[in-house]
Amino acid sequence: MSRVYFTDFRTGSKGNIATKIRALFDKAGFARAIEKNDFVAVKTHFGELGNIAFIPAPVVRIFVDIVLGLGAKPFITDSNTLYRGYRSNAVDHLKNASLNGFTMECVGAPVIIADGLKGNDYRTISFNGTHYKELKIASAINDANAVMVVSHVKGHELYGFGGALKNIAMGCVPPSGKQTIHSEFKPRVKEAECKACGKCIEKCPVNAIAYNANKKAQINQNICIGCGECVVVCPYAAIPVVWKTSHKPLHERTSEYVKGILDSKPGKWMFFNFIMNVSPDCDCFPWNDAPVIPNIGIAASSDPVALDRASADLVNKAEILPGSRFFTCHGEHNVINKIGGEGWEYLFECCERAGAGERAYELVEV
Ligand code: SF4
Ligand code: SF4
Repeated sequence: MSRVYFTDFRTGSKGNIATKIRALFDKAGFARAIEKNDFVAVKTHFGELGNIAFIPAPVVRIFVDIVLGLGAKPFITDSNTLYRGYRSNAVDHLKNASLNGFTMECVGAPVIIADGLKGNDYRTISFNGTHYKELKIASAINDANAVMVVSHVKGHELYGFGGALKNIAMGCVPPSGKQTIHSEFKPRVKEAECKACGKCIEKCPVNAIAYNANKKAQINQNICIGCGECVVVCPYAAIPVVWKTSHKPLHERTSEYVKGILDSKPGKWMFFNFIMNVSPDCDCFPWNDAPVIPNIGIAASSDPVALDRASADLVNKAEILPGSRFFTCHGEHNVINKIGGEGWEYLFECCERAGAGERAYELVEV
């Protein structure tokens, strides 16, 4: 059974939010994961412009201060998105981050986009899974000596629940890797949008793309291995992201990524879940709907499966707030079931089966 350390948001003259986060860090024994001069990635989410539910930059600075206090080198990071919003390349992403307060001046550490300018700076590691034989990890996260995963708990339109596990799998992976997690389907070219620039043909690792008689790129579905590279490289968005998926394989693919990424740095992961501003949609949207439950607290663990399981239980036990999307009457609970529908807990089962952690937990109040 894994331990999950928890503190609520009550503060006063005896201590503030920084005191509480430091207490969680100490209780979880995370100092063991950081050595002097280690590069420590503080992996968080900068919030799409227009969204204000993400963990604020001054709170993220508390983690930076902890790392600096241990003589290590922290940096704040996230990877580029698959969809074309404000965070799909490092230039827009850094601008978005700085407009949301994630600057060196505010967080006290450099902000680095983990997979580079265009989302193609990643390392490939081999993996012996059902869905994957190799995984792509954003370079800065792969190359860091230790990682603090600081996640905002919220609903998610696809997963139902967004916490540490999703922050590892989708969050530490370049856009082409995200495409393969999202969908097992192979992309197709929208002929009318194709400008015949040839970039996808150059990039395809299995030569599945060629020009057709109209001088438009065409993907041979029999050769395509669904790696997602052409979707990311096309400058004209002529190869649309494939979102279509079914629940079970999505969770299975995600769990393989979680396991592979964790195994790349055993004993060097620290997970914090902030259960606050729990919006029904994820922070990738340029809005956030009213919180569906009251702010609950912060949970920490070295086991992301136990941490997400415990966080989801705390969310589901809380009363749904009046005026929020899922409120119909007082005394109602189980908000994730309303957001995610049936099957959202399957991710925890898959991750446990993959050996990424365990669902059984002991909640230790700090
Ligand atoms: S998804 Fe990958 S394999 Fe398939 S056509 Fe695009 S680049 Fe080639
Ligand atoms: S990268 Fe896009 S625009 Fe260029 S050839 Fe391929 S599909 Fe056409």
